[in-house]
Amino acid sequence: MKKTKQNAAMLLLLALSILLVLAGCANAQTNRAAGSETDSAAPTAAVDNKPAAAKSDQTEATSGASEAVGYTPLDQLKTSYDLVIIGGGGAGMTAALEAKAAGMNPVIFEKMEKPGGNTLKSSSGMNASETKFQKEQGIADTNKLFFEETLKGGHDTNDQEMLHYFVDHSADAIDWLDSQGITLDNLTITGGMKEKRTHRPTDGSAVGQYLVSGLVADVQEQGIQLFVQAHVKEITQKDGQANGVKVVFEDGEEKTIAAGAVIVATGGFGANQELIKQYRPDLEGYVTTNQPGSTGDGIVMAEALGGTTVDMDQIQVHPTVNQEHSYLIGEAVRGEGAILVDKGALRFVNEMDTRDHVTAAITKLDNREAYLIFESGVKSRAKAIEQYEKMGLVQSGETIEALAAETGLPAEALQSTLETWNNSITAKQDKAFGRTTGMDHDLSGAPYYAVKIGPGIHYTMGGIRINTNTEVLNKAGEAIPGLYAAGEVTGGLHGQNRIGGNSVAEIVIFGREAGVKAAEFVKNLK
Ligand code: ADP
Repeated sequence: MKKTKQNAAMLLLLALSILLVLAGCANAQTNRAAGSETDSAAPTAAVDNKPAAAKSDQTEATSGASEAVGYTPLDQLKTSYDLVIIGGGGAGMTAALEAKAAGMNPVIFEKMEKPGGNTLKSSSGMNASETKFQKEQGIADTNKLFFEETLKGGHDTNDQEMLHYFVDHSADAIDWLDSQGITLDNLTITGGMKEKRTHRPTDGSAVGQYLVSGLVADVQEQGIQLFVQAHVKEITQKDGQANGVKVVFEDGEEKTIAAGAVIVATGGFGANQELIKQYRPDLEGYVTTNQPGSTGDGIVMAEALGGTTVDMDQIQVHPTVNQEHSYLIGEAVRGEGAILVDKGALRFVNEMDTRDHVTAAITKLDNREAYLIFESGVKSRAKAIEQYEKMGLVQSGETIEALAAETGLPAEALQSTLETWNNSITAKQDKAFGRTTGMDHDLSGAPYYAVKIGPGIHYTMGGIRINTNTEVLNKAGEAIPGLYAAGEVTGGLHGQNRIGGNSVAEIVIFGREAGVKAAEFVKNLK
């Protein structure tokens, strides 16, 4: 029953996503040429971004889309709920499900035309250690190793209490998802990790669409109200305690909704060029992979209630982003064997190093551009490549020479780079750059493929300071009563560098916690 519903929702989301991606691509050049602010956030900020040309009929088109996927119609809005959740991404929907399971009546307000946020765009998977799927597949992983590798990746700057909670609850989160009909049993590896702990859907496809469609189906099945085009402008309070929100709805009307507690799950601020410029002037002009709704609203709203922030200048620039469409090429492509070459067709970095290091190496190249090179084997293992192909991001050739001709890379150098790489695979040693993972298979199965990439703003590691109960903290480190936050809107867990696959884990682990803890708070009010 659950599966059927999920499949239906997934099909709808997929259809909608593909349509919007295609429309977004068509508009990419226009936006770029105009040098508009939407330039970087636009095109494939993809699936969520309605192209400028379609904006005029926004309301009509939107209500149609909303009804089709079954979001809650406005006439069902109540003036009061046990719990208000701001943001319908992975963290918000997860929190809603846990709160509902705890007997609450939660509501989700999502400002965009459909839920999913940046979660919808996540590709690599969800990191977790000591999981049943790892055990079944003979992968000897430990929470300790997961902790150590994440801390190393974050340059020892992660909030260690948060990190302990995170790794220790990761396997449980995988089980919980499985119990919700969301099964992530296909394992891969991302940069900075030594074990296969990145959990993906069974067919190896991108995690975001699968996760979001599953969560939407579960939210609907549980009868949780989810309003789209519901833009929360303010969190209300009484005597320092969060007690509701002010929301502007699709019809332009602002309403005040009362609640026993509020969960902020509004995602990051990677699409807010002003904030990026304020905290990281050096990143001005970079493209962003973020959906346009990731503007840091929750941070501003929590600050208004006395909430504090942490690591606001820690912004992750992802190394492999298609620049034309601001579209992220997931780390799984490298994890499944792809290499990176410069325009001379030479490798220049350990492709499986952490994101900050790989980005730094690409930033040093001419025009900050490089090519991911792979072949049919990688393509069959990293299903997300099919999506990149549909979007026209992948170049191909039946032979290495043909790929060189297609891309303009020097054929001899490409041939020799691939030969050397395949020898490194056989010898299980990468003398040139010391890569040790993503080396299970060589690159010898024609046809050959390339994706041109460069760095793009991807993730804001900083945000609202919370504790392991997901309570929002004030300057004195005290919890603000009734105010909770989870997901990308929070800061501290990742420190200065987030490991690929840790954001999906974060939204599920802390989204669950927020639902549980906020529910406890509300019960104690009664
Ligand atoms: P996370 O991964 O932490 O769940 P996402 O980016 O996936 O973050 O989801 C956050 C969601 O919150 C997005 O869908 C975004 O559009 C939504 N959002 C952001 N600001 C607001 C707001 N002011 N009111 C309602 N929804 C918001």
